[in-house]
Amino acid sequence: MSDCIFCKIVDGSIPSKKVYEDDQILAFYDLEPQAPVHVLVIPKIHICCADAVTEENAGVIAHIFTKIPEITKSLGLEKGYRIVNNCGEHGCQSVKHMHFHILGGTQLGGRMT
Ligand code: AMP
Repeated sequence: MSDCIFCKIVDGSIPSKKVYEDDQILAFYDLEPQAPVHVLVIPKIHICCADAVTEENAGVIAHIFTKIPEITKSLGLEKGYRIVNNCGEHGCQSVKHMHFHILGGTQLGGRMT
């Protein structure tokens, strides 16, 4: 999508600090970290949000989850981490290209809201 920030990160027209990339997905540091380690993992294809996951595009989401152990190990998150996906207005999703936040590097709080 031409007006999507994360599609522009995928095509290289907006720079990012990459931590992992393959043919299907990209992981890069969040611009405004909310934990000592805060990385976003995105599908390269434009999927707007969790609401738009279908049988046809779900493979890339599964792929993200198969790579998260490798990505988190490379980030030194052996003691654990949190995966967050915000969806829609009530979920406070600000970038409409599906992404998973990986937060860690410290003891996180127990509340999620
Ligand atoms: P969400 O609120 O769940 O949609 O999360 C969007 C995230 O994208 C926020 O944590 C932003 O800090 C982050 N973000 C926005 N633009 C960029 C960018 N150009 N590079 C890295 N992270 C970004």
